[in-house]
Amino acid sequence: MTIDSTPAGGGNPDLGVPSAGTGLHIQDLSKTFTVGRKEVVALEGATLHTDKGSFLSLLGPSGCGKSTILRILAGLETATSGRAVVDGKSPAELRRAHELGIAFQDAALLPWRSVESNIRLPFQVSGEKPDDALVKELIALVGLQGFEKAKPAQLSGGMRQRVSIARSLVVKPSVLLLDEPFGALDDMTRQRLNLELLRIWTEKPATTLMVTHGISEAIFLSDKVAVMSPRPGRIKEVIDVDLPRPRTPEMMRTPEFHALHDQASELLFGAGGAAVD
Ligand code: ADP
Ligand code: MG
Repeated sequence: MTIDSTPAGGGNPDLGVPSAGTGLHIQDLSKTFTVGRKEVVALEGATLHTDKGSFLSLLGPSGCGKSTILRILAGLETATSGRAVVDGKSPAELRRAHELGIAFQDAALLPWRSVESNIRLPFQVSGEKPDDALVKELIALVGLQGFEKAKPAQLSGGMRQRVSIARSLVVKPSVLLLDEPFGALDDMTRQRLNLELLRIWTEKPATTLMVTHGISEAIFLSDKVAVMSPRPGRIKEVIDVDLPRPRTPEMMRTPEFHALHDQASELLFGAGGAAVD
């Protein structure tokens, strides 16, 4: 319900930068892309703090820099200025320590590999010995038993997303980055996968940042929902979701849930807001 400007986990008030405490700390993050002679300010002074093991969602209009934040955290993009730190580690350090789990919108599975072998891929990338027991466990967790040898083309969209989520969890990430993981799916599949994601996350809590365009799913899953403003992207407000855990689908029909939904809608679509993508 408040603009979250105080660094959680103990920041240095004199410098206004987060200390190497736990949790996710994004401080004054800016990113300008240069395209030919044109400059695109994708992010301007985005600041965001969450606690270790918490679930944060990012909501905002198309092009406001949501993916850019995730890509910076994933070490796929470097910030023009500002800092992004999770549990005291920079994106590059997180990557080196294999602490990142990433699942983006298009499941990005290797088409010639089976379900099993796609989920095992991060071990090959990191040069670690595959943990076959864990791969098996994750396949069960996302409900893909019996499909171990299937190729992506033989699976439905929802199943491919589940493979992608299992793959993001195989490194036992302490940080999970999800960019519209259920973006391309129908509502029913989406709701079911949200429940699965919640169950998986509860079993293996990771500091999670999820980009979504679903207001309901953001509130349902998250401890905090950050609403961003249109270009240049800034964090407009952070909504604290104080619904109890474990969350159940029935909670989506409570007055508390509706009040949070209204608050997020107002920020997105109300005066000064914009259409969400
Ligand atoms: P969102 O995920 O919120 O839709 P993005 O983070 O993908 O937004 O993009 C934010 C802005 O930055 C957009 O205007 C987009 O066109 C621009 N942008 C993103 N990536 C690049 C890139 N690699 N080169 C140039 N512009 C980019
Ligand atoms: Mg995006």
